[in-house]
Amino acid sequence: MIGDAVDAITRAFGEVQQWLFESAVQPLLFHAGLGNLVADGYRATGWLLVGLLQIGVMLTLLRALERWRPVEPVTDRAAVRVDVIYTLMHRLGLVRVGLFFAVDPLWDLLIGKLRVWGLPTWSIDGLWPGVTDVALVSFVLYLLLFDLVDYALHRAQHQWGWWWQLHAVHHSQRQMTMWSDNRNHLLDDLIRDTVLVGVALLVGVAPTQFVAIVAITQLVESLSHANVRLSFGRIGQRLLVGPQYHRLHHRIGLGHESGGAGTLGGHNFAVLFPVWDMLFGSARFDTRYEPTGIRDQLPEAGGRDYGRGFWAQQGLGLKRLLRQLPLPGRGDDRARA
Ligand SMILES: [Zn+2]
Ligand SMILES: [Zn+2]
Repeated sequence: MIGDAVDAITRAFGEVQQWLFESAVQPLLFHAGLGNLVADGYRATGWLLVGLLQIGVMLTLLRALERWRPVEPVTDRAAVRVDVIYTLMHRLGLVRVGLFFAVDPLWDLLIGKLRVWGLPTWSIDGLWPGVTDVALVSFVLYLLLFDLVDYALHRAQHQWGWWWQLHAVHHSQRQMTMWSDNRNHLLDDLIRDTVLVGVALLVGVAPTQFVAIVAITQLVESLSHANVRLSFGRIGQRLLVGPQYHRLHHRIGLGHESGGAGTLGGHNFAVLFPVWDMLFGSARFDTRYEPTGIRDQLPEAGGRDYGRGFWAQQGLGLKRLLRQLPLPGRGDDRARA
């Protein structure tokens, strides 16, 4: 039953991808003299289509939710507009194209070398024969695996001082909306995506499944940043990350700062499944909605500037990172955040 529905969706997606490719992308490629990139262009069309569908869902369903029961009024529209730029860049392919030229060749080279040195191609099916015969089962297993990797990466983004300097771009948004998910330092995106693409190649997940995993993860991330008073209920909030759960991670003073003894240094790092937070002791189910941001942004704490516009945010992030790196001739004056 579910299998049939998935098949139908996959088929329809493939047909639209083919149409979009033939009517727009392929002519453009030939026009630009890039006929040798036709196969890659077809793959890129798939990502573009995913992005268009996501933005469609955001502008209809998520926007309706944000209007229905907003957590707070949008008083800083300019700040939200910057997040819209991040989202369009990310979901409509600019970041993807960058990855294609920077990350993919690197991984192809590395994996090729490792294979020559005898690294076996291992997949879930190799560990547990037969399990991937049922496409849905293998899909769920891969979804869990990638979500665990995401959880670990997110913990590291907060744990390691240099990485936090980049991830702070994401947390510096005090006007959180469904657009805030992609508000990240580009270097932060590059590191995270490099790891995820590497894992995808290592575990041998099928390309169509990888696209679906990324698409679902991103859509849930958009929802979990939305400016809406929404919890999935006592049980539901333990099964899937939602707006209330993730907003707590953005809360000033509680969500993501390392506190004193007895605190865990933040809560609710999970991207899709809260089970990782529950397993590793970082889950917190709290029904209050409080201001989001980083403590040192508050006027009484110094009013630190993380940048208003895109370039300011990127530039300041890079500056913070450089200041954090242990360069020769510099004392250990590194402080977190
Ligand atoms: Zn975070
Ligand atoms: Zn977030």
